Amino acid sequence: MPDVVSLGEAVIDLFAAPAGVALEEADSFSPEPGGAPANVAVALARLGVDVGFVGLIGDDPFGLLLSKRLKSEGVDTDQLRARADSPTMIALVAASSPRDQDFIIYRGAALKLRTADLDLSYLRSAKILTFGSVSLSGEGSGAVLGAVRQAREAGVMVAYDANLRPALWPDMGTARKGILEGMQDVDVCKLNEVELELLAGTDDPATGSRRLLDRGVKLCLVTLGSGGAYFNNGRAEGHIPAFDVEAVETTGCGDAFLAGLIAGLLETSLQLETLDEASLRRLVRFANGTGALTATRKGAMAAAPKRADVEALISRP
Ligand code: ADP
Repeated sequence: MPDVVSLGEAVIDLFAAPAGVALEEADSFSPEPGGAPANVAVALARLGVDVGFVGLIGDDPFGLLLSKRLKSEGVDTDQLRARADSPTMIALVAASSPRDQDFIIYRGAALKLRTADLDLSYLRSAKILTFGSVSLSGEGSGAVLGAVRQAREAGVMVAYDANLRPALWPDMGTARKGILEGMQDVDVCKLNEVELELLAGTDDPATGSRRLLDRGVKLCLVTLGSGGAYFNNGRAEGHIPAFDVEAVETTGCGDAFLAGLIAGLLETSLQLETLDEASLRRLVRFANGTGALTATRKGAMAAAPKRADVEALISRP
């Protein structure tokens, strides 16, 4: 059984071309495998972590593409299921600027997880289970929340990506409520400033992370793009600057950051409250390095770095 299980959506992202245009101005769309939890799984595999992906794809060519890709990256797909009655999830994406993406999302099979699709013994046997809020925006929400709770009760550490995708929610109030519901049973929460503002009512990482710790999160990470990341576990908090790299495309940086963090956590005692400032700084530096290298290449999965490359970057004076 894998050390880490990533639960949620595997998606085909159709990226609008030419780059920089709005969705309605696109000439063409090119397919890329994605979905935050699938990206996290691939990034973990490239860091040498034993990882499995749990989710639903359609019984169709895009589903096959995703399944083959995950397998070829070394991700365990034993619990990846195909549904005959729903297509693979698709997102049309136009990146009009690095921080401003337009989406049209066709939910498909990925957000229809049922309790019967989830093998609890597989989830419970992981050291860390990671999931994100996208899986809570469809009819599968109850099954995901139930499975996460049961895994956590069995002692599995849970790492949550707030991952706001407004296109998936009827309005921001519902998004806030749904994403906070997912935060009830988590140990680690990773989010960016936009998500922090929505969930904590401030984009100030110190104040916002404290508010999330008050909600029960044990370690909060606020990612700040080229500004690095802020960490807070209640015992220590601080900011770690980003690595200075030549950014080509930042898709998947947040997913790679989370993978880097999880890979680092696996080498600790997994007692989050006891991590001191030096340990947290080391962990976040590694996560920043994983995120930074992902910015230097195109494609979320394609850009995820190998462990040796992250180690080389972070050991640079
Ligand atoms: P998200 O994609 O979830 O919004 P961010 O853009 O904040 O996440 O990126 C996650 C992490 O990746 C950052 O905290 C940082 O460590 C790294 N990163 C992202 N963009 C850059 C960049 N341009 N240069 C260096 N590191 C970056």
